[in-house]
Amino acid sequence: MSDLLAFDRAHLWHPYTSALKPLRAYPVTGASGVRLRLADGRQLIDGMSSWWCAIHGYNHPLLNAALRQQLDSMAHVMFGGITHEPVVTLGKRLLEIVPRPLQHLFFCDSGSVSVEVAIKMALQYWQAVGRPQKKRLLTVRGGYHGDTFAAMSVCDPVTGMHHLFRGVLPEQLFAERPSCRFDAPFDPTSLEDFRRLIAEHEGEIAAVILEPVVQGAGGMWFYHPDYLRGVRELCHRHQVLLILDEIATGFGRTGKLFACDWAGIAPDILCLGKALTGGYLTLAATLATSQVAEGISASGGVFMHGPTFMANPLACAAANASLDLLLAGDWQARIRHIEECLKAGLEPARSLAGVADLRVLGAIGVIEMREAVDVERLQAFFVERGVWIRPFGRLVYLMPPYIIGDEDLGRLCEAMVAAAGGGHE
Ligand SMILES: *Cc1c(COP(=O)(O)O)cnc(C)c1O
Repeated sequence: MSDLLAFDRAHLWHPYTSALKPLRAYPVTGASGVRLRLADGRQLIDGMSSWWCAIHGYNHPLLNAALRQQLDSMAHVMFGGITHEPVVTLGKRLLEIVPRPLQHLFFCDSGSVSVEVAIKMALQYWQAVGRPQKKRLLTVRGGYHGDTFAAMSVCDPVTGMHHLFRGVLPEQLFAERPSCRFDAPFDPTSLEDFRRLIAEHEGEIAAVILEPVVQGAGGMWFYHPDYLRGVRELCHRHQVLLILDEIATGFGRTGKLFACDWAGIAPDILCLGKALTGGYLTLAATLATSQVAEGISASGGVFMHGPTFMANPLACAAANASLDLLLAGDWQARIRHIEECLKAGLEPARSLAGVADLRVLGAIGVIEMREAVDVERLQAFFVERGVWIRPFGRLVYLMPPYIIGDEDLGRLCEAMVAAAGGGHE
């Protein structure tokens, strides 16, 4: 084990880390249900779903079986000139559950790539309909859309990577972060900045891109669905496409199957990823309306993207099994119950001196601290307490697998409250 850790430290890059002074990494040898097993035999209760993905927990017998079965027929074939049952089944299933106007699907490898694909679709659409000057993007502050270049350009300009790539990233338009809380009455003035920007720049804006209702890695912020409804109307009025990034929020996490369902609206382009395969394999999808797809394809146009592992059959089979599992159960009642447990379990943190805000929506519980946390120290504190929670910035949060039991959830909440109370210092 010390060999493994030494090689890892010396040669393997982890997310957002230094090659010289990496943060500590914990060796995991197995995962089952909501437990991660460490190499030293300790078991940790998973509060992260491996970055929003593992909604059914780990080592699930039905997902395992679906993958084994698919493996026996084929792991992968190219998607150029070939099609197969797993992708057709997945396409049909997704069209049954996403907002109806979305009718065309593009499968790719990861969330960031699906955002690139979405942006490309928007740009190609305006080129095809004869308005090539519409090529900028409008978004809001506090967003996160991935780490590739076009995606980075619409991440929050402060917490994102704009300072590293100034002059390289395209300069997009940023409205204020939607200030109206999810759980407060809607304040229409919160839309003013967005309204002004879209009106001033409509001739050059190809699309608005947003995470609906829940901003994830950009700040774990929940805003009012009426804001999203307002954005939808303004996009129609100013002839701007709306891209919704549901990579983090899709498949029930917020209490609706898709977060745009809170507002009852449909985007022109939708990005899905993360929980799509139940956390088994990397797969993402970009969906478009007939208007967008037909616009791009009118007068002989083709959509110019085609990744090597497009529509990988194994990943599609995992996604099909994950959707079966999700939709066969009463996921809504499950998420509502997790929400109640999170609300009750985290409430004691509200009055703590170091805590700036506490918010819960669906199966997401967030404690926002007044000061940035020491990630490595806090992580070690959590591991000591038998839980896996990875904070960032001033945010300590939970998004457990949907299958988690009350006792495990209670232990996650207790650890969060203890950490917020300074228990690790
Ligand atoms: C994680 C995430 C992405 C990027 O997905 P990757 O699979 O990591 O490339 C994009 N948008 C949102 C909202 C995400 O949460």
